[in-house]
Amino acid sequence: MQLIIFGPPGVGKGTLSDLLADKYKIPHISTGDIFRNEINSGNSELTQYVEKGLLVPDMVVNKVIEKALKQETFKSGFILDGYPRTTDQAEFLENALWKLKKNIDIVLNLVASEEEIVERATQRRMCGKCGALYNLVTMKPKKKDACDKCNGPLVQRKDDEEDTVRKRIQVYREETTPLIEHYKKKKLLIDVDASKKPRTIYSEVLKIIEAKIPKQQ
Ligand SMILES: [Zn+2]
Repeated sequence: MQLIIFGPPGVGKGTLSDLLADKYKIPHISTGDIFRNEINSGNSELTQYVEKGLLVPDMVVNKVIEKALKQETFKSGFILDGYPRTTDQAEFLENALWKLKKNIDIVLNLVASEEEIVERATQRRMCGKCGALYNLVTMKPKKKDACDKCNGPLVQRKDDEEDTVRKRIQVYREETTPLIEHYKKKKLLIDVDASKKPRTIYSEVLKIIEAKIPKQQ
């Protein structure tokens, strides 16, 4: 089973991907992980761009993804997160999968309003000492300002500040709108209401997958 997952930052994409990966015994691949592996194994072309903080051109990204998809680990499927980012990449991916006699089964589009995402992000706290994550509403620490594990101070990350969150959502929307249209036209896109609790989202997604690909059960 080949899945693609879309969702704005902070919508719970990582949690959902990990639960699905566990359930269907397929790897969750994020472009970040693939890039790190490639750089560690000495891909100098990619390293050049990443080290300088430059946007990696489509051609280079595509090559890296195509190589990764051929690996044994991804034989029975995958959950792709962070790729494709452009419709050109989406077309390249279809072609690369076609060569492997595979196709994208479902594109999950996690949907939540900007206000919900901002609300959730601004409640997030991180331990300044050990890095443990909390949420003042859904994953409360025992003491308001201290870490349960090490008693370190709880701080708000720059990434979780309201202005940063709003900017990241805007960038995400601009980037993703053409892709959403692309997959809608191909009748692969399924919207998922991501304003609910992670477990609820997960069980709804299972129903979607079972309805669409019955052989997965
Ligand atoms: Zn701590």
